[in-house]
Amino acid sequence: MPRDVLTTKLAGFGTTIFAEMSALASSTGSINLGQGFPDTDGPSEVLDAAVDAIRSGVNQYPPGLGDPDLRRAIAEHQQRWYGLDVDPDTEVVVTAGATEALAGAMLGMLDTGDEVVLFEPMYDSYQAGIALAGATPVPVLLAPGGDGRWTFDPDALRTAVSPRTKLILLNTPHNPTGKVFDRSELELIAAVAIEHDLTVVTDEVYEHLVFHGSQHRPLATLPGMFERTLTISSGGKTFHTTGWKIGWMTGPAELVTAARLAKQYLTYVNGAPFQPATAVGLRLGDDYYDRLSAGLQTARDGLVDGLERAGFTTYRPEASYFVTVDIDSIGFEGDAMDFCRALPATAGVVAVPASAFYMNPEHGSHLVRFACCKRLDVIEAAVDQLVGAFR
Ligand code: PMP
Ligand code: GLN
Repeated sequence: MPRDVLTTKLAGFGTTIFAEMSALASSTGSINLGQGFPDTDGPSEVLDAAVDAIRSGVNQYPPGLGDPDLRRAIAEHQQRWYGLDVDPDTEVVVTAGATEALAGAMLGMLDTGDEVVLFEPMYDSYQAGIALAGATPVPVLLAPGGDGRWTFDPDALRTAVSPRTKLILLNTPHNPTGKVFDRSELELIAAVAIEHDLTVVTDEVYEHLVFHGSQHRPLATLPGMFERTLTISSGGKTFHTTGWKIGWMTGPAELVTAARLAKQYLTYVNGAPFQPATAVGLRLGDDYYDRLSAGLQTARDGLVDGLERAGFTTYRPEASYFVTVDIDSIGFEGDAMDFCRALPATAGVVAVPASAFYMNPEHGSHLVRFACCKRLDVIEAAVDQLVGAFR
C-alpha cells in the first residue's frame, strides 16, 4: 500500500496494542495477561439463548434500533440498577459493542475543530474516534496519589475546557487504572459540564465489575445530568462474551439520535442472534452479578499479591479487568514497551504497556497493565513465572 493512501486523520495510528500483544502471546506461547478478555464462558442461559436464536431463524438483519426486546431489557437494566428511566423506543440503541457506540457518538456529534476533554490514560479507540471526526482530544491527567488511588487536579479539568469544547468523554469504571470515579469527582465533572453547557459521553463497560468497597454511579444519575449525558455500555464484559460485540447507548432522544445517525452508516446493525441472548443476561438475578464481581475480585487479589511478591509496586484496582504496576520499582531499565516486548522471553507472560493509553506516552512510560480476568490457575501460573523471573 502506498504510504500516502492513509487519511491524514489516522497519521500516527498503528495496529492496536491489543492485537500486537495478543499476537506476541500466541507466537511465543506465553500466558496472555495483555488483551482484556475472559478465558471462561459466561452463563449457560445466555449461551443457550444464542444457540436457540440461531436455530430458530434469528439470522437476518435486526431492526435498525436493535431487537425491541433487548432494548426493553436495557431500559429495565438502567431502571433496576440506577433508577434511570429510558424509553426503549426513543432513548436506547443497540450497537456493535461499546466501540461502535463511541465512534457513533464522536462522528455524530463532533465537527472539525471541536475539542473533547477526557482523562488520560484512556482506552485507545477514543483518540482514533475523535481524530476520525476531525476533532481534538484535550487530556486531563489521572495519577496515583499517596494512597495509591488515581485522581486528578480539579483545576486541570477546569482549564482543559475552552470555547471549542463540545464534549467531555468519561470512562468509569476506568480502563486501564481500575479507578471508579467517586461522587465528588462526578459532581465536579457535572458542574463543569453544566457551567459550559457541554454534552458528556460516558463509557461504563465495566459497570458490573466493581470490587468490594467501591460503587459505580452513572453520571446520568446526577442532578441535571441525564439530559446532557449519553451513556454507553456493552454485554461483553458482563457476560464473558467480548466476541459478540453487543453494546448499547442510552440517554435523551436527541443525543441517542445524533450518535445513531452516524452508527447506522458504520455497521447499520449487527449480531442478530446475540441480541436476544444478551437480553437474557441483562435479566439474570442479582446472584449472577454478585458472583461475577466476587469471582473477579478473587482473581484481582491473586494477581495483585503475586505482582507484589515479584517486587512490583502495584495499584490495586477498584474495578475492571486490569491491574497496573510500576516497572521502575523493579529497577527495569527501559520503558513499558521494552518491558512488554521482553516479558515473553523473561517470564513467559504477556502484558500491555500502559503508555499506549496516553496521548503523551512519557506519562505512562513506567506503567504496565496486566489483565486479571483469567482462571485462577492461569493467574497462579503467571505469578509463579513472574516471581521466578524477577525475584
Ligand atoms: N471501552 C473500554 C473502556 C474498554 O475497555 C473496551 C474494551 N472492551 C471497550 C470500550 C470496547 O467494548 P466493546 O468490546 O463492547 O466494543
Ligand atoms: N478492552 C480490552 C482491553 O482493554 C480489549 C480491547 C481490544 O482488544 N480492542 O484490553
